Amino acid sequence: MSRKKTESAPQQDLFGGAPARPEKPVASGPAPLAFSFSKLSMYEECPLKYKFRYVDKLPEKPKPYFAFGNSVHAALEFFHDPSHEAAPPLEKLLSAFKEEWDAKDWREKGYSDPFRSDSDYQSGLKMLTGYYRKHHASFAPPFLVEYSTDVPVDGLLVRIIADKIEHTGGGELVLIDYKTGKDVKRSPDQLHMYQKICELDPKLREKLAERYGVPAASLRVRELRFYHVPSLKEYTFARADDFEIGLFWERVLRAAEGVKEGRFPPRPGDFQCRFCDFRSSCPVHAETSPRASQGLEELAAEYEAARGKAEALKIKLVAALKAMPGGAAETGSFSLKLKKGPRWSFRDREAVRALLREHGCYDRACAPLLSRVAELVDDESLSAEARRALRELAEPSETFEIELKRRRE
Ligand code: SF4
Repeated sequence: MSRKKTESAPQQDLFGGAPARPEKPVASGPAPLAFSFSKLSMYEECPLKYKFRYVDKLPEKPKPYFAFGNSVHAALEFFHDPSHEAAPPLEKLLSAFKEEWDAKDWREKGYSDPFRSDSDYQSGLKMLTGYYRKHHASFAPPFLVEYSTDVPVDGLLVRIIADKIEHTGGGELVLIDYKTGKDVKRSPDQLHMYQKICELDPKLREKLAERYGVPAASLRVRELRFYHVPSLKEYTFARADDFEIGLFWERVLRAAEGVKEGRFPPRPGDFQCRFCDFRSSCPVHAETSPRASQGLEELAAEYEAARGKAEALKIKLVAALKAMPGGAAETGSFSLKLKKGPRWSFRDREAVRALLREHGCYDRACAPLLSRVAELVDDESLSAEARRALRELAEPSETFEIELKRRRE
């Protein structure tokens, strides 16, 4: 479907209740931002990663899990082709998987060696055989498979690709999305986007009327499902109400606004940075080099200012949260809670030790702290033999702290 220029239609209700019709294309105006659930996820994960991927279009490394997922999806697309009146034989389902799998070699699919690739190939065959055994007897052609559409809404051109759509009668639809990874449980956000877009999609209405003869206006999503292929389990969600869709849609609009305004701050985190293909371009992970050290004065000053600002902000946040009922608050993007606990200190440590021994709980209170044990590795008051033995039990890694003090002028 070609992209159309659109004008912004007024929203019908505060919570994103579907407007009666999608926006009408107009002849001029800025091109709508092409958006999708993947784009939303990436922007929310790290806006800078989004920029590298979608604005700068830096290449990404191939990922084995994408190759695997694509091959399983291709096989299921063949199996559930709406033109099939009965389930195709298992051999044909497995051939459809093989055909897609063989389209790239193991390197192109992102594997580090051919054995892992073969092992995934075997898992795919096993998974699809299980799927076939469970479903071939109850096979019924669905309404659509791999349905791709782009719908203009709120100044965006939103793309969805629904793996399977079933019609349960009277214009009511069930949207099914296949998952092939390890992660079984997930929130239905992606399905919320599919629900909203399907209900706005004129092309889908036409297809529904054409295929089942029901009035286009009666299209309504009744149910949403993730189908986890490895475990053959379905996770079903009731149709999201306007409130849920509205909350979700606010997130979409907020992210899209960030993209339109060119807001791409890095959002580093253990998980997202570990699997990010753009680390070498990311300033957060820029290596310190002699050239970079020329800017140490500025970096240190910035770090000191940021640290001071963070402390000042913390004091303000604590004060604001103390004034909230239960010390907690929800904002558009954050959930905040003041965690407080009693803080005790003991001056007479000998008396405390004696008391703990007397009551038989010295070991419970004085279990070795990891940080203290680590200090002993270099503690010369310990025998060399004991230090060596301790080192052999340890797994070394490095951490860095910055000591920053202002020099006297
Ligand atoms: S390395 Fe981390 S901070 Fe940098 S772009 Fe990737 S995810 Fe974002």
